[in-house]
Amino acid sequence: MQVTNVSNAREVGPASGRIQRSNSLVEDVYEAIFAQLMSLKIAPGSRITVDSLVKELEVSHTPIREALGRLEGEGLVLKTHLIGYRAAPQITRRRFDELYELRLLLEPHGAAKAAALMDETKLAVLRESAGGMARREGKDERLRYSNFARQDAIFHDRIMEFANNDLVRETLAFQHTHFHIFRLMFHSRVTEEALDEHEAILAAFAASDPAAAEQAMRRHIEHSRDRLLPAFD
Ligand SMILES: [Zn+2]
Repeated sequence: MQVTNVSNAREVGPASGRIQRSNSLVEDVYEAIFAQLMSLKIAPGSRITVDSLVKELEVSHTPIREALGRLEGEGLVLKTHLIGYRAAPQITRRRFDELYELRLLLEPHGAAKAAALMDETKLAVLRESAGGMARREGKDERLRYSNFARQDAIFHDRIMEFANNDLVRETLAFQHTHFHIFRLMFHSRVTEEALDEHEAILAAFAASDPAAAEQAMRRHIEHSRDRLLPAFD
């Protein structure tokens, strides 16, 4: 896979007006590595060598190190002194159960609160976010999958934002749940079925129906758990 923007970040001077391009280079490199991690092309726990990414993506070391640093902050990459980078290991079955228990405790209630506080502006934001997941353009299956994972994280985060409890929202965001669970399995079933469940949540929001929103969110999270459980077989 090649990254389209191949300008070298180290050549960019502060007054050259090319800062924007160097930012987008790091962004492109980040997206490329993120997609490989989410779609398991880079296997959980495996070593990531900067030199091989330099060759593969045809960019310099700098944007790759920056992108890996960002992924480290998201818990997807681990850096060990003198050894280097590796992909974070797969979450354990125990951690998986804990994450879903946490989600089931917090998100259905958050969805009910968000429904009670729903208005046209918020609904438009959530529809836009859900719509981004439904779009199937783009040939690269890995990029599409990783994009879905990110959009799903944003969709759920937005709902918690509209539920109006920052502490609950931060608690969920801090787990980077979606990045870890989508990495359990690279399969279209994970994304296809979730779309209908999101529609049910949106319908409850459109009706400003807290009970229906709570139930739709609970069902979505339970189904998501059931779809991913075979990853532990
Ligand atoms: Zn979802």
